[in-house]
Amino acid sequence: MKAAEIAELLNEPACAHNKKEKSGCAKTKPGATAGGCSFDGAQIALLPIADVAHIVHGPIACAGSSWDNRGTRSSGPTLYRIGMTTDLTEQDIVMGRGEKRLFHAIKQAIDDYAPKAVFLYSTCVPALIGDDLGAVAKAATELWGVPVVPVDCAGFYGTKNLGNRIAGEAMFKHVIGTREPEPVPASAQRPGITVHDVNLIGEYNIAGEFWHVAPLFDELGLRILSALSGDARFHEVQTMHRAQASMVVCAKALLNVARKLETDYGVPFFEGSFYGITDTSQAFRDFARLLGDDGLTARTEAMIAREEARIRSALEPWAERLKGKRVLLYTGGVKSWSVVSALQDLGMNVVATGTNKSTEEDKARIREIMGEDAKMITDGSPKALLQAYKDYGADILIAGGRNLYTALKARIPFLDINQEREFGYAGYEGMLELVRQLALTLEAPVWDKVRKPAPWAAQKAAGEPLTAPEASHG
Ligand code: SF4
Repeated sequence: MKAAEIAELLNEPACAHNKKEKSGCAKTKPGATAGGCSFDGAQIALLPIADVAHIVHGPIACAGSSWDNRGTRSSGPTLYRIGMTTDLTEQDIVMGRGEKRLFHAIKQAIDDYAPKAVFLYSTCVPALIGDDLGAVAKAATELWGVPVVPVDCAGFYGTKNLGNRIAGEAMFKHVIGTREPEPVPASAQRPGITVHDVNLIGEYNIAGEFWHVAPLFDELGLRILSALSGDARFHEVQTMHRAQASMVVCAKALLNVARKLETDYGVPFFEGSFYGITDTSQAFRDFARLLGDDGLTARTEAMIAREEARIRSALEPWAERLKGKRVLLYTGGVKSWSVVSALQDLGMNVVATGTNKSTEEDKARIREIMGEDAKMITDGSPKALLQAYKDYGADILIAGGRNLYTALKARIPFLDINQEREFGYAGYEGMLELVRQLALTLEAPVWDKVRKPAPWAAQKAAGEPLTAPEASHG
């Protein structure tokens, strides 16, 4: 990839960061080890496309350290969960065999798994030795008749966020627009209802959470042409250009795809979220607004009224248990404001929130929801988080999985909110799961037990000889 192409991706006009600086995304600080590389970002963005063979071209560690690190689910094929790599060795590099190995890997993937397409991910080493992914992909496509898509995402190009955009760019360049959608099947047609085609961009179906929301799309007459990329199939991604509206579900990843669909194909987009009752309802309203269909607006309002009433009454007994509990929130990928609003829906008190990865617009929104005095934390180090927990008198820390051990060592309740989590929190139904997990975490009897001094501590302080627990049983 040329330097000019990378600069163009960083200069994403639809990204709020550009209003402040041409960084494309928050710059990583020197010494930061927490973020992934561009390869990681590209792979994580596309890996959920379930019927594709994803081949990582590089030394084994690139694939081995990053495979399957997002709990995304598929309702059908599971090919995406098979880790494939060319496993380049020193010998291959010295002997110039990189492209050859890649070619063989593509053949093996096609012979063994008959994938709908093959995606090739570049990593640092083949980029440094000059392997031509594009040429290999072209030759392989011609030879075997299966679409082979190069994703030129060497780790050293930049951050994980840049990798997301590179992935989006590859989809735009090689996949989107290469097929026309199937007509709406007769079984999905209902008298008097126009079915509209829509896209979801940056939705990853983590822990299968989108399945909470999907039936509501069907009910309203919204056909999801493709998600990029949760539970997606290759042929669906090919048709994204024919949607009538797109929703960008995660603020920054793949924003370039939404913008280009708008400029090149006239598909309007909005940014939204399925976390929390208020935001879920707003997302459906925004679809109705963009599609400008009065019948859809009426159906949407009726559905929202019904679902909100249903879920609020189901939440009542839980909300009683959580009311007034103080939350310290430190989210990564998930929009902070979106989670704040979901917790406020439950009557919880968000005492402070992390904004390290939030855009300026996200921060403005947080102020709008939490008030002008909203406490925002930018230092996510374990020490700073625990200090904030103490200072603000929090009852629970809600954060990404990598903070789990910080919380457990400090003996404080913790809930994982990021991509590695095991429970789906999206949509109205997801709120029930969120509330259940919050209550179980906060009320777990373990906290009292682990915070009590050890039985032998008192004996030790009194200078008594220590008795082993078995001794008391004779
Ligand atoms: S930085 Fe380079 S070598 Fe390291 S994981 Fe990313 S692609 Fe592989």
